[in-house]
Amino acid sequence: MTDTTTGNRETLGFQTEVKQLLQLMIHSLYSNREIFLRELVSNASDACDKLRFEGLHNAALFENDSELNIRIGFDKTARTLTISDNGIGMSRDEVINNLGTIAKSGTREFFSRLSGDQQKDASLIGQFGVGFYSAFIVADKVTVVTRRGGEKSDQGVRWESDGGGEFSIEMTEKSARGTEITLHLRDDQDDLLAGYKLREIVKKYSNHIVQPILMKKEEWKENQYETLDEDETVNQASALWAKPKSEISEEQYKEFYKHVGHDYDDPLAWSHARVEGRQEYTQLLYIPKRAPFDMWDRNARHGIKLYVRRVFIMDDAEQLMPLYLRFVRGVVDSSDLPLNVSREILQESKDIEAIRKGCTGKVLGLLTDMAQNDAEKYAGFWGEFGKVLKEGVGEDMPNKDKIAGLLRFASTHADTAEETVSLADYIARMKDGQEKIYYVTAETFNAAKNSPHLEVFRKKGIEVLLMSDRVDEWALSYLTEFEGKPLASVAKGGLDLGKLEDEAEKQAQEKQADEFKELTDKIKTSLGERVKEVRVTHRLTDSPACLVAEENDMSANLARMLKAAGQKAPASQPILEINPQHPVVLRLRAEEKRFDDWAAVLFDQALLAEGGQLDDPATFVKRVNQLMLELGS
Ligand code: ADP
Repeated sequence: MTDTTTGNRETLGFQTEVKQLLQLMIHSLYSNREIFLRELVSNASDACDKLRFEGLHNAALFENDSELNIRIGFDKTARTLTISDNGIGMSRDEVINNLGTIAKSGTREFFSRLSGDQQKDASLIGQFGVGFYSAFIVADKVTVVTRRGGEKSDQGVRWESDGGGEFSIEMTEKSARGTEITLHLRDDQDDLLAGYKLREIVKKYSNHIVQPILMKKEEWKENQYETLDEDETVNQASALWAKPKSEISEEQYKEFYKHVGHDYDDPLAWSHARVEGRQEYTQLLYIPKRAPFDMWDRNARHGIKLYVRRVFIMDDAEQLMPLYLRFVRGVVDSSDLPLNVSREILQESKDIEAIRKGCTGKVLGLLTDMAQNDAEKYAGFWGEFGKVLKEGVGEDMPNKDKIAGLLRFASTHADTAEETVSLADYIARMKDGQEKIYYVTAETFNAAKNSPHLEVFRKKGIEVLLMSDRVDEWALSYLTEFEGKPLASVAKGGLDLGKLEDEAEKQAQEKQADEFKELTDKIKTSLGERVKEVRVTHRLTDSPACLVAEENDMSANLARMLKAAGQKAPASQPILEINPQHPVVLRLRAEEKRFDDWAAVLFDQALLAEGGQLDDPATFVKRVNQLMLELGS
């Protein structure tokens, strides 16, 4: 930050990202400029919530003014709009941090994804969150005067910026606690200087903010509105979730979501219910349309808002949602918890556990319904949040089957990675006599799709699920069966197709195993410790060889992933399987002179084909070149 000081006043530079965000905001969101008011009102409401919560432990913060509210006013002559609240306010340091930097995780990723295409970028900003800076969509200068609850009246702070590269900050007098934001409107924004217009925007976007939003009353006199010196509440100012469902419109649910979810987009779905029983609470839970930027940041804020009898207690109460549902937003309002409940208490509370269980059930129910009744919508959900939901298979044992029912996988019976199948669909189209659900894991979709292990399954038309998410291996270690059908990796253990093979095939295979015994023994001797065993297989139709893991060993894919992550993987020897029909294998039977080279190349290419890395690539290349030269001569 650059820094020039004149008396009490300092000029500071914005963090680079803020400058970029400001530019983007002004240009990309212009067509939806009214949202600035929603964002500022939403911040004001959060500030009131924070005061209410801190005030539970420190009543002095209220300064004898506990009627929390938000005010909107305008001045036609000065061409300004003012949004003020008597919430918690900000100290000087807080102002500098909150209004000069972006402290959000995922910021760098966000900026790296911007394309310069305004429409695309506008939707990305939406996902990122717009917040305070949206004021600059309509204003060419913004002044913030704020004082934190409990501070003396000369400890107010005045922040001002024209949205260029800098802002100024100075200490000032402010008698009323809270924050007042003044927008000096851009030239073409005069239509916002009208009470009816502002009321309309408030009703549209902020009707269900819990605090009253006050405006001066107006009276129609001599062909224009005259402002009276009397306030009125222009929003409903009631907790939306406390109303009966039948009295809430779809639009109202959506509006409320944008406030609690800090989202610019509509939600994908929601569940609203009043739960009675051992614990009484109301929950209004939303599933966003799109994943936030920081979904993979384990330290990112998540969780939902907790209220106790309509009093805001805390944001991001992560104890109310399991980690694998961290994308869920919304509100839980408990009738039973004490008002002074703290994060520590939440961690141990049996009551909270019961609420979490209930909320989890509701979300899974909502998703199950969606999957059954609106496959397209569910596909949208899956594309955004599928990888997170998969974590649930290992995290939430009691709901494992329900979650397994929600999983979707790519399959050999589809053309693209996006076209997916559920385990239930898979079972419904299993071949006669098929007893297992087959899958293959690999690092990428293409590696899975082209894995040599699939060859016999393709030939027989047996479907195999293709798994290439990192979390799949982990999830599969918990998911060993679905609806009584075991899940089986096609790259582990001996190939046992059960009833999918007839007697004649089985006999032919046994005969070949005998016939090739000499060769498999010889290859094993040649490869030594690199393999546990060498055997004939019927898995392959086109490839000469492949590697498989023992039934209970870690899969090669998982071992590679662990190594890549710098973790130790137990050393396991693969089994080399050879295809007795393949010309290369037949040719190897007759080879004398270069047998060791052939055997080594066979092993190395099997490793390459499943996405593995060679220990000694240079020697592999040398051997291949040698063999090519010999064939050519
Ligand atoms: P977000 O609300 O998503 O955190 P914003 O850019 O809207 O991002 O606001 C940044 C921060 O500034 C808020 O998190 C809050 O701490 C502070 N802030 C904004 N408006 C107010 C306000 N009216 N009163 C107190 N603090 C505020």
